[in-house]
Amino acid sequence: MSFTLPDLPFAKDALGQYMSAETFDYHHGKHHKAYVDKLNGFVAEKGLRGSLTDIIRQARADGDKAVFNNAAQHWNHSFFWQCLAPPEGQTPEGRLAQLIASAFGGIDPMLARLKEEAVGHFSNGWAWLILDRDELKITSLHDADTPVVHEGMKPLLTLDVWEHAYYIDYRNERPRFAESVLGNVINWEFVAQNLDGDGVGRADQEAASEAFA
Ligand code: FE
Repeated sequence: MSFTLPDLPFAKDALGQYMSAETFDYHHGKHHKAYVDKLNGFVAEKGLRGSLTDIIRQARADGDKAVFNNAAQHWNHSFFWQCLAPPEGQTPEGRLAQLIASAFGGIDPMLARLKEEAVGHFSNGWAWLILDRDELKITSLHDADTPVVHEGMKPLLTLDVWEHAYYIDYRNERPRFAESVLGNVINWEFVAQNLDGDGVGRADQEAASEAFA
């Protein structure tokens, strides 16, 4: 059994200046791939079974940090790529726009709050827009921690704030990275889809048996 690195849902140069092809070469092609490769090493060594989210939850229950970190990072990155889209002036619409308006007063204050969370998060982690029952909330999680193991955190949108996410294009400027990405290259259609509560499932993966690997 082995897990695979998902293709990016767009060409690696499609996000232009906001997230460069070189960033994707490293972030997707090397960092994300390394998590998948390490996870596959554990799958073989420990005989792990089940889907990616099964393995993440079991590793958390067992206190197996090495498996948890690599499996959770595989899921987090698989979700993150889907949150991005080429800059085409997209904005939240319909029910998503209404929920954002009632929780935050509009898209601009919501993005400002998400940027504040991303910038204020100490060291490595992920900023999240989540659905908690019927309410939108903004929070962040440290290191590899993931909504997959948090009851009531239905993931809608995430921003990777590990330094590897922005160092090539923005150097140390996390605030400029957060503002540029959140303001220009978010796939709001994907975010809106996740209002059905199945965001976790959209980045899940079944391990392929070796016969099909
Ligand atoms: Fe990352």
